[in-house]
Amino acid sequence: MFPLQDFLKQQQAQDLYRTRKVCEGHQGPRQICDGKEVLSFCSNDYLGLAAEPEIADSLRKATEKYGVGSGAAHLVNGHSHAHHALEEELATFVGRERALLFSTGYMANMGTVSALIGRNDYVIADKLVHASLLDAAKLSGAKLHRYTHGDINSLQQRLSAADKGNRLLVTDGVFSMDGDIAPLPELVRHTQDESIALLVDDAHGFGVMGTHGRGSADHLGCHDDVDILVGTLGKAFGTFGAFVAGSEELVETLIQKARSYIYTTALPPAIAEATRTSLRLVERADDRREKLQQLIKRFRQGATQLGMTLSDSQTPIQPLVIGDAAQAMRMSERLVQAGILITAIRPPTVPEGSARLRITFSATHTEQDVDSLLGALEQCA
Ligand code: PMP
Repeated sequence: MFPLQDFLKQQQAQDLYRTRKVCEGHQGPRQICDGKEVLSFCSNDYLGLAAEPEIADSLRKATEKYGVGSGAAHLVNGHSHAHHALEEELATFVGRERALLFSTGYMANMGTVSALIGRNDYVIADKLVHASLLDAAKLSGAKLHRYTHGDINSLQQRLSAADKGNRLLVTDGVFSMDGDIAPLPELVRHTQDESIALLVDDAHGFGVMGTHGRGSADHLGCHDDVDILVGTLGKAFGTFGAFVAGSEELVETLIQKARSYIYTTALPPAIAEATRTSLRLVERADDRREKLQQLIKRFRQGATQLGMTLSDSQTPIQPLVIGDAAQAMRMSERLVQAGILITAIRPPTVPEGSARLRITFSATHTEQDVDSLLGALEQCA
């Protein structure tokens, strides 16, 4: 085995070493992590469905019916009635001809991008898109052009520099580390040419934004104009997995070509069944979405009063950018001592010099929880 010590030492020296906390119990504002009870503000369980009894119940019942494992890939004999019904229900929910389940969002992006374009094509990506979209672009072999975050002039320049082959414009709907929403109506306006398609990864908008949680494009009034919609199920939906929705031809193409769909075991059918319950709850969760907005407003007002600089985010992702990685780590450690769990996000997850505390809210937080957070931030700043 070749030596790995130097790399590990370097990570430590740069305050970039990553560790894991061992947490007990289910997701929710109060958790025990590394043996300490904490009030947590770092989960993507935005609607508080990850521990919802009705969903857990349907998982239990489906396990009795389907067992645990799916046994094989979708194209062998792993594609159950539960998977199939969930795909149809997701397609109806997002108003598309078809939806295709993937085992994770990471795999959905990898499989989709690499199935649709190749060496003679271009991926045009916002500078801050999720790592899975960048990895997907690399895997596809297409040339990658990145435009300045949210900047339409920069996008236009990148698009006109990519004048041969097909162009796949990719963006997060809600940016995972910043919480702001992509200027989707403007992006749509730049994808009218037949050689351009728009993929929106709405991992953090799906279930949270838009009519009945249909996502950020719906929130911005351009839902029907997005060619390829990627949604994840492990965040607001509280379960696991992901899907890609679009036209009949898109989904059939992915079934033929997406390697991360073809060459992997289907997710457990009981998870698909539990997600069907989750989908029904998400559609009816306007009260939870409203509660989230109230918590976000309370936090932003309180933080502004404390003189903190907030990013321009209306979503449950409310980062406090610290800058230096070591300082962000120290702040996160001090918060844990005060009983608040917020992980520090450091490069390369975020750009150099923009380490941050990624604060996230869930509909299961209370107003008192937000006040406790503000109190701890004031004390630890
Ligand atoms: N896209 C975005 C924008 C994400 O934030 C994430 C997860 N952090 C993913 C894709 C990957 O989803 P999954 O966790 O289901 O692999």
